Amino acid sequence: MPPASVTVNGRTYRYPTRPAVVVCVDGCEPAYVDDAIAAGVAPALRRFREHGTARLSRTIVPSFTNPNNLSIVTGVTPAVHGIAGNYFYDTGSGQEVMMNDPRFLRCPTLLAELSRAGARAVVITAKDKLRRLLGHGMQGICFSSEKAAEVTKAEHGIERATDLVAMSVPDVYSAELSEYVLAAGLELLRRERPDVMYLSLTDYIQHKHPPGDAVATRFYGMLDRYFDAIDREGAVLGITGDHGMNAKVTRDGAPNVVYLVPLLDELVGAGRFRIILPITDPYVVHHGALGSFATIHLERAGDVGRVVERLRRTPGVAGVWDRTDGCARFELPPDRVGDVILVGDRHTTLGKSEDAHDLSLLTEPLRSHGGPTEETVPFIINRPLSAAYAARGGALRNFDMFDYVLNGVE
Ligand SMILES: [Zn+2]
Repeated sequence: MPPASVTVNGRTYRYPTRPAVVVCVDGCEPAYVDDAIAAGVAPALRRFREHGTARLSRTIVPSFTNPNNLSIVTGVTPAVHGIAGNYFYDTGSGQEVMMNDPRFLRCPTLLAELSRAGARAVVITAKDKLRRLLGHGMQGICFSSEKAAEVTKAEHGIERATDLVAMSVPDVYSAELSEYVLAAGLELLRRERPDVMYLSLTDYIQHKHPPGDAVATRFYGMLDRYFDAIDREGAVLGITGDHGMNAKVTRDGAPNVVYLVPLLDELVGAGRFRIILPITDPYVVHHGALGSFATIHLERAGDVGRVVERLRRTPGVAGVWDRTDGCARFELPPDRVGDVILVGDRHTTLGKSEDAHDLSLLTEPLRSHGGPTEETVPFIINRPLSAAYAARGGALRNFDMFDYVLNGVE
């Protein structure tokens, strides 16, 4: 007999009695959903809005992929789970590294704990970079559409994942990479009726196309067809995002960047600082490693005050904090950020120096994320909330989704 509930990282979840499916729509600025509904291509999302639950929620800042995906599956902030960015300076090893490795994860995921309690769990991600973090400690099926052709029973809990989907394995830079996640998830839902499923998409389209753009509308129409099918399978479906997305360009359409190296060279001296841009990931074609969040390690602690003061006076910089205040504000682990934390404004990114970013890879005007201006995402469930959950006050977070899907609907 499965338990009535499991408690993970201080939150208690009812053991699922019907499939619970959470979809993280990467880069889901709320306007994408509104525009798709208004355009008439998203009847399922319209239905959920009218008869289910449709609210907004706040993400983790830095509003990047890894911290938010890990918050959604652990139910807690990076201060607890440890994944503070896609990329960080590991002061222990003296190396700058991708935060893709489970050894950086400081707490169990809900998916792992549910699977330990006997639940059948499925995780499918678009990009392989998230797979080992999301699947850490989990029994069950866990693979990425990027590497769907390379799965093994031992590593991924499934053989021949490509047999699930009629499509061929898509390019890593494509809208189809997300569709593949949903198509495989839907097929597994039909075949296996898993107890819990987490599907995490990619923001390839959102980095290139603003809300209302025909390509974006078509993409959300595609998502909607899968949401409709998942709903009709009887699952409780929760849809949220890991971050929003904004244009980050000057009036003439060029990337809008505050370059930090020249500024810091002058202020504290060349070689006396290390800039970390936690948006950095293996898939830079999206954004040229330009986002609206940066952290700076300083050689001399005595420079912190001057750097904070100078950056506060820099146009395009929306906020600057020392480590203590920044970690308190953004719920981050102090040992995984630098001495200074700063965010850009709605249309400004933070970079190192002009020659450190290959902007020739950008084929459209830069759209990116990372700061508090991209911290609002949809929080949509295909069912109405129970009276108790509907009466709850307080701001929703995207990482409340499993709580609401498992505990908050009738
Ligand atoms: Zn993302």
